[in-house]
Amino acid sequence: MTERPDAARPDDALRSDYPARAVVDLGAIGANLRVLRAAAPTSSQMAVVKADAYGHGLGPVSLAALRAGADWLGVAQVAEALDLRALLDAAGIPRSLPVLAWIGARGFDWGRALDADIDLSVSWTWTLAEICAAARDRGRPARIHVKIDTGMSRAGSTLADLPALAAAIRTACDEGLVDVVGAWSHLSRADDPSDEGLASTAAHIEAFERGLAVLADAGVRPRIRHLAATSGILWHPDSHYDLVRAGIGLYGLSPAPSVASSADLGLTPAMTLEAPLTSVKAVDEDVPASYGGTWRSPTRRWLGLVPLGYADGILRASSNGAPVLVRTPDGDRAGRVVGRVCMDQVIVDLGPADGAPGAPSARTPRPPARVGDRAVLFGDPASGAPSADDWAACADTINYEIVSRLGERIPRVHLPENRGGTRCQPPTT
Ligand SMILES: *Cc1c(COP(=O)(O)O)cnc(C)c1O
Repeated sequence: MTERPDAARPDDALRSDYPARAVVDLGAIGANLRVLRAAAPTSSQMAVVKADAYGHGLGPVSLAALRAGADWLGVAQVAEALDLRALLDAAGIPRSLPVLAWIGARGFDWGRALDADIDLSVSWTWTLAEICAAARDRGRPARIHVKIDTGMSRAGSTLADLPALAAAIRTACDEGLVDVVGAWSHLSRADDPSDEGLASTAAHIEAFERGLAVLADAGVRPRIRHLAATSGILWHPDSHYDLVRAGIGLYGLSPAPSVASSADLGLTPAMTLEAPLTSVKAVDEDVPASYGGTWRSPTRRWLGLVPLGYADGILRASSNGAPVLVRTPDGDRAGRVVGRVCMDQVIVDLGPADGAPGAPSARTPRPPARVGDRAVLFGDPASGAPSADDWAACADTINYEIVSRLGERIPRVHLPENRGGTRCQPPTT
């Protein structure tokens, strides 16, 4: 098995010498996509790879998703789509592979998006006008997806504004400036099984239907309707329509861990975040750890030091409590982050240390782990590792934020599919 930091990413010199790494199992990406396909078997499937594939690495994840049968790729920013198309071109993926992007600011150079064959979302007439200007300039129609605000009040045309937008789109169609590929929206509470959550999703679907009718009345005929992200795929079959957009589930994480865990859903967390211990030492009882001394050792303790901190995206809110597993030659050791997360390091409590207080060298107790042993912050719980959900709970956030905010300086190491091993086998260092 060869493991190298992805050569397509910048700063390779820094990356390859960096102690921590995020190991991404591309086999898990493919398996997760197949699980989600089984949940929405009649719809086409978009792999959502925004934000560097939720921190997992845009190029390798996109190509793995395509190998696993994804029909579309989607990103948020148009600038991300340009990067993605360049990666796809370099990998020999034909331009017929559709890529949708849904965020571009006023004044964006939309002509570049047309040149890269990017499908563009249109929520507002200003976007339509700018895209039409680019289409006129390039002498070719832009592929657009009309976004309807069905209750999230984020992007999308409200139903009140939609007749005017639809009329403008119809005109642009007639002028050959746009090709209306899709109509779409996004569900805001599809992860919520309460009565209120279910009512919200039902209202979104109803508003979507009304929006489609408004488009039809204006003579705008999208070929593809799409509404569902992972939660919709899993829990709302009536939201599947022609295409579904798989984000968090693709990475093996549950959109609602309190409703169903990854394992409950048959999903395999694809990323393992790990770093070698740079120190293992005993400290006396009642000794403070890290800035501000927010934790004091309750007894004489073994403390490990992990070279990952908030500059790497380890949220400072996970100070004092987040779980860490240390893989030692003698077996796994459970630890917890103690004291505040620093910019580049965290301290991990590895348990009580024997020996006389104040005289660490009087006896030489056996340390529970050694410098160089691998500390796993999160990964697949099936391997014994803590989960991204555990870290999310500690930091009062969601697993999406845990993985997508991981620092760019952490090398991503991609394990290929068909490694011949069992699922999500952690690599040996
Ligand atoms: C991020 C995003 C998705 C994917 O959502 P998940 O919950 O991660 O599956 C789908 N559609 C839109 C518009 C998004 O912004």
